[in-house]
Amino acid sequence: MSTHTLVRVIVPGPFDEPFDYLVEGDRPPPGARVRVPFGRGHRVGVVLAWPETAAVDPARLRPITASLDREAILPPDLLALLTWSAGYYHYPLGEVLTALLPAPLRQGRSAVAEPTEHWRITAAGEAALAAGLRGQPARQRLLAAFADAPAGLDRTQLRGISPNYRQPLHALLARDWVEPVDPPTAATAAPITSPPELGAEQAAATQAIAAAADRFQPFLLQGITGSGKTEVYLGAIAACRARGRQALVLVPEIGLTPQLIQRFEARLGGSVAVLHSGLTDRDRLTAWRRAACSEAAVIVGTRSAVFAPLARPGLIIVDEEHDASLKQQDGYRYHARDLAVRRAQQLDIPVVLGSATPSLESLANVERAAYQRLRLDRRAGGATPPALELVDIRRRRLAEGLSAPLREAMQQHLEAGEQVLVFLNRRGWAPTLICDDCAHVANCQRCDARMTVHARDNRLRCHHCGAERAQPTVCPECGSTALVQLGAGTERVEAALQASFPDYPTVRIDRDSTRRRGTLDAGLERIRSGAARILLGTQMLAKGHDFPGVTLVGILDADRGLFGADFRAPEQLAQTILQVAGRAGRAERPGRVLIQSRHPEHPLLQSLIHAGYDAVAAQLLAERRSAGLPPASRMALVRAEAPAAAPPLELLRSAREHLGERRIRDLEFHGPAPAPMERLAGRYRAQLGLLAPRRAPLHRALHELRAWLASSRQARQVRWSIDVDPVEIL
Ligand code: ADP
Ligand code: ZN
Ligand code: ZN
Repeated sequence: MSTHTLVRVIVPGPFDEPFDYLVEGDRPPPGARVRVPFGRGHRVGVVLAWPETAAVDPARLRPITASLDREAILPPDLLALLTWSAGYYHYPLGEVLTALLPAPLRQGRSAVAEPTEHWRITAAGEAALAAGLRGQPARQRLLAAFADAPAGLDRTQLRGISPNYRQPLHALLARDWVEPVDPPTAATAAPITSPPELGAEQAAATQAIAAAADRFQPFLLQGITGSGKTEVYLGAIAACRARGRQALVLVPEIGLTPQLIQRFEARLGGSVAVLHSGLTDRDRLTAWRRAACSEAAVIVGTRSAVFAPLARPGLIIVDEEHDASLKQQDGYRYHARDLAVRRAQQLDIPVVLGSATPSLESLANVERAAYQRLRLDRRAGGATPPALELVDIRRRRLAEGLSAPLREAMQQHLEAGEQVLVFLNRRGWAPTLICDDCAHVANCQRCDARMTVHARDNRLRCHHCGAERAQPTVCPECGSTALVQLGAGTERVEAALQASFPDYPTVRIDRDSTRRRGTLDAGLERIRSGAARILLGTQMLAKGHDFPGVTLVGILDADRGLFGADFRAPEQLAQTILQVAGRAGRAERPGRVLIQSRHPEHPLLQSLIHAGYDAVAAQLLAERRSAGLPPASRMALVRAEAPAAAPPLELLRSAREHLGERRIRDLEFHGPAPAPMERLAGRYRAQLGLLAPRRAPLHRALHELRAWLASSRQARQVRWSIDVDPVEIL
């Protein structure tokens, strides 16, 4: 026994605890992968620790099969984050590991960066190309691409030219028409542009962040759209790089645009690695390795990039920190912003949360002095923020969603040679199809929801479960042909705009119009070039894109967020209005924002237009405090669903009873109750809210609850999940 030592290993899968194994010879360090026997097969796990004594009967210990890494591939801070978040989110440790490791690494592939392979055309290749490669279109295309790239091409670029580049590449190499070269270095890769001269507020913010370089300090960078937050990020990153440290930048799903990446690359050269969910396994692994070996000085990514390994971490930035897409909405329901703050704390480095419309959570943290606020209240380059106006649409006839004042304003701005943005967060032609004779409504058969009419292809679609069917011509209830399409979505408004403003081309941007690859970029380009004058779209327009030519914004329906079932709906409404409004205006001419509402006297809209976001946020925060809702308290949601309505509710009732018997002090229950939309995709959903003034009692309750659910017979018929700090409660 004396030649054996122990390792404690996290194994991917639904396991809360690590498993102990024996090692003969050199012990792989914590953070390294090992292949271990598991059940009747094998799995690739990660060493968590070197225990002195085993957690189970030593006679039952088995040896590891193989050691896969000499060195740790997960730095200690990631291991700590992994264990901490499994506990915080009450989610299995082994599943958190799965979420964190790129798939090729889970399969046992090498974690060591391969040298980047790069090839360029030779003189012989040029000659062959000039002569023409008859009957070899694939080689011809590849060789032509090489001729256009004097610095050479790598595998990623080749794959972009042709997914089947391998065979032709080998053929070209065999004929010496292309040759391997060293990859271009950061210095040669891209011309680096110099930063603008920072304004006083920008300079002060950048300095404050740089001055906190060696300690944990969260900053809330609150700056209106166009105030130059990105320049502050870039300045803080430059200071971080000058000290030889890496920066991690998280952006919401929709904010990771090619323009943003270009802006970072133009300033920082080839040292930027990009991580997002659309990457191939191979590209993700490459970016991951570049971060891990500190070849990448800056890692820009969406939510899951919060788990990027950093060899020399120096700064974490979370852009649009209020954005709901930073929270994972299924499975391992972590919040990337909150994990970013936790990670910065473990690493003792600064973290910057940026937004024009900060979350109430972050504002509450400013109030209790946990976060330091940095403000940018002026637009960069002297532009004036847009003026917000309400348009009362109660007694006005709307033509396809557009009021007369909005149409008139559009006409003026278009005639003045400017662009107009029309925002409606509802795609399709019409949200309702109703029978004029018997009032029958076309509903989804699997959800408690109406089917949306999509006129272009004449179909009804459910926006919740994706079900679809042909648009009926007669009422299925009474046989009448008097079917009426009620309300307007973007498709219908687009048709109306084209009819009313035939001289001004319209571009529609929503999930339907951009489904085909390249259509989004093409649409945005038509706006940027000025070819299109009216820009119509959903949420997809609200973030990440700049439209400097837009001077008028029309928000068609501001009311849906005012009376939502979700307690966060008003906060999200205020944020959305201001994010959309932020697209308007420029230096020479301030923008105008017209907000159509049937409730123009509503206090939220009133304070939004007269007093601004700070006033709205203060008001909403006070309401949350008096209602005992987050951020004034800690919340978790227990969700349950099943093919029948009763079992989820019964399970949650028993869960509540069980927790009630535990007499956890200060724990408060909301529900159980059916979810606001009870039936989704044929499953009935219920939820139980747990609230506590502090984290400890909530944590204890969730711990008890999980143990109970794991052993409850009732829970086997029902799919359940726990959502800590829920962002969407529908
Ligand atoms: P935000 O991220 O706060 O919306 P950006 O950083 O995108 O703002 O800046 C808005 C615009 O102003 C960009 O076009 C940017 O290049 C420009 N800008 C930012 N800071 C300055 C500055 N100090 N001087 C001149 N232009 C600036
Ligand atoms: Zn009918
Ligand atoms: Zn449905």
